[in-house]
Amino acid sequence: MTRAPLHLPDPTLLLAALLAEGIRVIGPAPVQGAIAYEPLDRPEDLPKGLSDSQSPGHYRLAETAPGRWFDYVVGPQSWKKWLFPARQKLWSAERTADGFELGQPDEPWPRTAFFGVRPCEIAAMEIQDRVFDNGSFTDPGYARRRAGTLIVSVNCARAAETCFCASTATGPRAEAGYDLALTELATGTGLLLEIGSDEGARIAATLALAPATPAQIAEAKATSAATARAQTRAMPEAIAGTLKANPEHPQWEDVAARCLGCANCTLACPTCFCTDVEDVTDLSGDHAERWRSWDSCFSIDFTYVHGGAVRRSGKSRYRQWMTHKLSAWHDQFGSSGCTGCGRCIAWCPVGIDIVAEAHALSAPDPSLPAPAPHEEA
Ligand code: SF4
Ligand code: SF4
Repeated sequence: MTRAPLHLPDPTLLLAALLAEGIRVIGPAPVQGAIAYEPLDRPEDLPKGLSDSQSPGHYRLAETAPGRWFDYVVGPQSWKKWLFPARQKLWSAERTADGFELGQPDEPWPRTAFFGVRPCEIAAMEIQDRVFDNGSFTDPGYARRRAGTLIVSVNCARAAETCFCASTATGPRAEAGYDLALTELATGTGLLLEIGSDEGARIAATLALAPATPAQIAEAKATSAATARAQTRAMPEAIAGTLKANPEHPQWEDVAARCLGCANCTLACPTCFCTDVEDVTDLSGDHAERWRSWDSCFSIDFTYVHGGAVRRSGKSRYRQWMTHKLSAWHDQFGSSGCTGCGRCIAWCPVGIDIVAEAHALSAPDPSLPAPAPHEEA
């Protein structure tokens, strides 16, 4: 099957082909003033003419040219809402005459396509794969959902002010990790469709599309390069070592004085994966359930052990989050835990910006003695 890029006149043709095969399509939908990922039942449900305005502590949907399909970037939710649900029943138990009977939750996952996955979101899924399906440990529900999901990605033709994926090498163009990838060309001239898997090739073949021209292929690449150049934030390259070397930098106190400890950043983050486990019973004691729900390292109870919480101060909790995400994650999972999506910046109610904090923490700690002057040889 051909893997050469194709020209897709309109993304609703692809959406219609997926729906016609009985595939559940989950894609972008405006919900309560933001782009969320929801089931799309009809090709015309794909939003058009929308963009977004994002900055620290700010997100608003905005209008763009009426013919544009994908000028918005990432919203408050990520695909982890589907692959790693916020609240999940792990098991239940019923008392019986001679003990109890365990029940496993029924978790149907129909054949599904994620439509409109951004490159930084593919990177986030690959990071969560290393947490939930890493060879030595597998969360069976996560693995089943991931394996049963087709990825239709969209390379970004526009960056929000909060995006910094170019500096984390996770966007704005996906090189792998998708079944099909779209890049929107100049308004009204369609999209480039790239094929990343046999299943993607099979679906693309049902559309009988024309090959993309060399000019369209070049335009798509130039669009991605221009999107990367347009990004105004960049994570410092040496941040992993900087954080390890500066656990007592005064900037930790500075950021802690602004941080509300609300955990919004961790809930919006597509890679954060901390959970709590709760056991509940009914009043008779005949029925019990165990639930797993998202938790956050910003919650005081997260480190509760007998006698109290380990990380009691806002400083220690913010430092834990940022140092794990940007530094210790490399030791644990072989990569940064940050994909440069900017969600934690836009959705922090007080506008704390992880990139600005990283730059501030990279400045010399004024409480330390200045380094000795370099001696001439
Ligand atoms: S830390 Fe912030 S910018 Fe990085 S992946 Fe998480 S939400 Fe996105
Ligand atoms: S950094 Fe912002 S979003 Fe995160 S816990 Fe602090 S106030 Fe909340």
